[in-house]
Amino acid sequence: MSESLKLWDCPTCGFTFDADHQDIDPVTGEGNGNHTCPLCELAEKDEIITSLQEQLREANESAAHWACKHHADANRFQTQNRELAEKDRMVTLLAEENAAYDQEIAQMNQLIADYEAEALKRGDSNAVQKD
Ligand SMILES: [Zn+2]
Repeated sequence: MSESLKLWDCPTCGFTFDADHQDIDPVTGEGNGNHTCPLCELAEKDEIITSLQEQLREANESAAHWACKHHADANRFQTQNRELAEKDRMVTLLAEENAAYDQEIAQMNQLIADYEAEALKRGDSNAVQKD
């Protein structure tokens, strides 16, 4: 029994293999007479993998760049927030000081009013000078 082996040569890379290894028709599940070179298929997959790795590298770079920019922005916002908090604190302190002054003024006004009332009681109209 001398069955001659039919070979198929890949026109792209020259790899030779048993012509019985045909592409399988997805509908019939039978060989469809076409051939796909396993070496070329592998090279194609390698190319896809390389391309995907390149895309992934670019995406990572872009993400790293974004993260870096975001980090810088976050730092800037933190600085601004610190400055705003400092100004808030100053405004609060000034408001407290103003309230203290207001209280002192109210006390002085009260003293003046008391003094005027006393002077009026004594009939001393010169004690209070009014313009
Ligand atoms: Zn090939």
